[in-house]
Amino acid sequence: RYDGPKAAEILQKRSEFLSPSMFYFYKKPLNIVEGKMQYLFDEEGRRYLDAFAGIATVGCGHCHPDVVEAIVDQTRRLQHSTVVYLNHVIADFAEALASKLPGDLKVVFFTNSGTEANELALMIARLYTGCHDIISVRNAYHGNAAGTMPTTAQFNWKFNVVQSGVHHAVNPDPYRGAFGSEGEKYARDVQEIIEFGTSGNVAGFISESIQGVGGIVELAPDYLPAAYKLIKKAGGLCIADEVQSGFARIGSHFWGFEAHGVVPDIVTMAKGIGNGIPLGAVITTPEIAQVLTRRNYFNTFGGNPVCTAGGLAVLRVIDRERLQENAFLVGSHLKDRLKSLQDKHDIIGDVRGRGLMLGVELVTDREQKTPARAEILHAMDQMKDMGVLVGKGGFYGNVFRITPPLCFTKEDADFLIEVMDIALSRL
Ligand code: PMP
Repeated sequence: RYDGPKAAEILQKRSEFLSPSMFYFYKKPLNIVEGKMQYLFDEEGRRYLDAFAGIATVGCGHCHPDVVEAIVDQTRRLQHSTVVYLNHVIADFAEALASKLPGDLKVVFFTNSGTEANELALMIARLYTGCHDIISVRNAYHGNAAGTMPTTAQFNWKFNVVQSGVHHAVNPDPYRGAFGSEGEKYARDVQEIIEFGTSGNVAGFISESIQGVGGIVELAPDYLPAAYKLIKKAGGLCIADEVQSGFARIGSHFWGFEAHGVVPDIVTMAKGIGNGIPLGAVITTPEIAQVLTRRNYFNTFGGNPVCTAGGLAVLRVIDRERLQENAFLVGSHLKDRLKSLQDKHDIIGDVRGRGLMLGVELVTDREQKTPARAEILHAMDQMKDMGVLVGKGGFYGNVFRITPPLCFTKEDADFLIEVMDIALSRL
């Protein structure tokens, strides 16, 4: 039972005391007061199946008892800054995290968020190479601080205020891109940027493995290997942003970049790393990490004992509960069923993604690919009323983003399909 303030009161306070830039989903926004595994509960005790936890991002399920226990236990013992003293939790977590990465990627810097992780990664690339130019991909999201904002190429959302030293490459989007699924053709643009827009040397390249905010866009096959090759030739470092696609979400692999057959120089992560608590990380090789002895870097709370205790518990839960396997099995089933829905509903232009990171793009005309912007809002509201929460994204805001907790079951997937089917039938 919830006796706290109701939605109307919260909205009133928000409008007076919180930033006007804050937004929410749904005509009547939800006041979510509790979470348990794949479910959320509103102020009236109504239960919702959460198929958009990935944004928070809850990998092992909301308030997973093991993670809560680890956080509470550590909070009782000690919460402090990461700098100045020793504490074993941060070292234990770094060791466990490093064991999940290939090759020589084993030196970890902790941060409080994905933005901070990418800021640090960009700085490391610039320090290591002595170059300033960074290439990111259009439609990407990497953060919203001074260094990352330029790499976030989301002009529709009006994120971009500064664009110093960053070039945006053509997005290898198999659905809307000019070259379809021919990844190597898109990569030519990376070469042209290097040739026409830089000295010939670059600091690096940053990309998601599957674009999240951009609408679950799987980069065309062969794009990343080709782009990485060109960047390395130009002396740059390749940064994989695993903030959304990491931590077993894509099912077939633990990290999104592994599905592209590349090994980055730097990997950044956040969201799923802490099952909802503020935590991020940058992982690189000992050789590259060495540049941070030339320029000092510290972070008061990045990797603090409470957050890293939570992170360690998350890794253990993912392994013990075989969540990667679950993401693969349930995700494949869900994707198949979404494809069947596509056969039934003309409004579904594309179904894409991997594991439990799936996207459904709505269009009013399949030939023209006209974004169904109004329809998606209506369908989302309908789905919410039937007890299922999905996200929304993409350049035109017309893509359902389906990123549930990794404990999602086949029955949950079937329920989601049933509800989406009804919502789309009613349009
Ligand atoms: N990278 C990606 C791929 C993201 O999706 C996000 C957040 N949506 C970020 C970085 C930034 O993370 P944060 O909001 O924790 O700063």
